[in-house]
Amino acid sequence: MDLILLGTACAASGQERDNTYLLLREASGSTLIDIGGNPLGKLKKLNLSTHDVKRVLFTHFHTDHIYGLPSLLWGMWIDKRTEPFDIYCEATEKQWLESWLSLMRTGEWPVAFEIRIHAFDWQTASTVWEEGDVSLSVFPSLHGVPTVGIRAVCGEKVLVYSADTTPNPLIRGMGPIDVLVHEATTAEQGLRTHSTLSEIADYYDWSGVGQGILVHLSDGEPYEAVMAQLPVSVSSKLTLGQDMAVISID
Ligand SMILES: [Zn+2]
Ligand SMILES: [Zn+2]
Repeated sequence: MDLILLGTACAASGQERDNTYLLLREASGSTLIDIGGNPLGKLKKLNLSTHDVKRVLFTHFHTDHIYGLPSLLWGMWIDKRTEPFDIYCEATEKQWLESWLSLMRTGEWPVAFEIRIHAFDWQTASTVWEEGDVSLSVFPSLHGVPTVGIRAVCGEKVLVYSADTTPNPLIRGMGPIDVLVHEATTAEQGLRTHSTLSEIADYYDWSGVGQGILVHLSDGEPYEAVMAQLPVSVSSKLTLGQDMAVISID
């Protein structure tokens, strides 16, 4: 499985960064985690078709994490999709999502594919999808609105995405993680419902993490300066995420 950073910016997207969203690419089909800007263009850059995208899991319903959905669905219709498209979202937002789809008039398109909504309880860690040796689980984040982080297991490898959150004890207690994608909305200036680079560098035991990738980044933040102050044992694990970076999870 490959992890692709389709976007790495905070809510106010950057000059060179799209809003944070991810793609888990597998030969049998791909999974989007949230949908930010220009999903159709990004799929083309990866030589993927909309047919390759089987599902999306929304971490939460802040605009920067969902606004690409109409464009993706429209592209699927243009591509004459017939197979179902699965949307995983937390239960209290299901009705809102249905209203949004209705506002887009998906029911009036000559849509030949079914949009299936699968709701989960965001407050309970649970596996929402699995196939073969790949599984996707959710766990509660700490973000002020119902939000989940993602734990993807691919064979022996573990990928965790924090989603928008303050440092999360559930991630700290997870044991070895091969790839931890964590938000760092600022370098060191504290925010009530987000993380800073300094906080997460301190909070997690990086000896148990293979590599840490920072996303949800803000323009103009002194990330490099803060990184330079960290112990090498921590800074050597961390990289600033770049849009369209591909990370192998196998
Ligand atoms: Zn966000
Ligand atoms: Zn958010």
